[in-house]
Amino acid sequence: MGCVFCDIVNNKIKSEKIYEDEDVLAFKDVEPQAPVHFLVIPKKHIKSLNEVKEEDFKLIGKIFSAIQKIIKDLNIKKGFRVINNCGEDGGQTVEHIHFHILAKRKMSWPPG
Ligand code: 5GP
Ligand code: ZN
Repeated sequence: MGCVFCDIVNNKIKSEKIYEDEDVLAFKDVEPQAPVHFLVIPKKHIKSLNEVKEEDFKLIGKIFSAIQKIIKDLNIKKGFRVINNCGEDGGQTVEHIHFHILAKRKMSWPPG
């Protein structure tokens, strides 16, 4: 079955990439919910956080390292939010694990 985010990794679908290395890709969300809203994904297809295996833990660590680098490059000083929607009740619509990064506005709590 096709995967939108694998298609973005393989350049079959266009995206505004903001960071890329061997294992990780970050690109702007097509429907931004904040002045800064991008998604960080592993290039490897993993369906959701629930499917992450022990062999993937290093890869997940690389995602968070990439997030730190991007936040620094974007000169975001006042904080940001990281969201992972997992499964149906979590609100996951694309079944390729991704972390939303939102910034440049005050976030509310609790989420809806
Ligand atoms: P989820 O609801 O699964 O946590 O988040 C999926 C996110 O992917 C949504 O915020 C949606 O706007 C974004 N998205 C879906 N399809 C595309 C696409 O083709 N390109 C980009 N850049 N973002 C997408
Ligand atoms: Zn995929």
